[in-house]
Amino acid sequence: MNKKFKSAINKQIAVIGLGRFGTEMTRTLFENGCEVMAIDIAEERTTAVADFSTHTVVADASDEATLKRLDIASFDAVVIAIGGNMQASIVCALVCKELNAKNIMAKAQDNKHAKILQKIGVNQIVIPEADSAIRMATTIINPSVFDILELEEGYDVAKIEVLPSWINKSIKELEIRKKYSINVLTVIRQDNTFVNAIADTVLMENDKIIIGGLTDDIRKFIYKS
Ligand code: ATP
Repeated sequence: MNKKFKSAINKQIAVIGLGRFGTEMTRTLFENGCEVMAIDIAEERTTAVADFSTHTVVADASDEATLKRLDIASFDAVVIAIGGNMQASIVCALVCKELNAKNIMAKAQDNKHAKILQKIGVNQIVIPEADSAIRMATTIINPSVFDILELEEGYDVAKIEVLPSWINKSIKELEIRKKYSINVLTVIRQDNTFVNAIADTVLMENDKIIIGGLTDDIRKFIYKS
């Protein structure tokens, strides 16, 4: 299916595998102005995304000739959202890499799957179930943590409640970086305004703060505070 589409963002993305993850990926990219080619081996899956994709293709995305024909290297990014069929996901990633596809992102089923994708050279890998479980577990263990995210491998960012002992003190005075090896990046005031965190910024009651640092340091800080 072809549709004339005026793209605001002007990015062309291929989404391979239209389960829940691939479908939401397609919808979000399309609604935000990307041109999306949505590919699945099952026709009913492609039909389901026809209203919010630029092109749909019914094809086996682990087949080299197919990906070559679709000119996969011409896309700004390729999202491989095949989860359950690990073999198809791995072969697809390998072929994309061999065809010089740019910016390959993939959903993995588990750590082993993620490791293989990483070895192939996939640029960004998520394990959605594990990632959300870890985030939720962290907020259960420490309710003053609102969210935590591994931004880069080995580097975490977290949104937390200001510690009671930090209220009415400046970042410099608290020596946060020196004591905990973490950085306060932004302060969110009670009225939802954002304040750049500088040495003289004074933390106030009901503030939320965004902190960043090495994963080990952030986890140590979060689980101990
Ligand atoms: P989700 O959690 O996102 O619903 P899932 O992990 O259950 O997905 P699968 O159902 O295995 O993932 O795969 C998602 C989609 O990928 C399915 O619609 C399936 O038809 C499609 N798919 C599987 N193998 C291939 C392939 N070789 N080529 C293209 N699409 C494929």
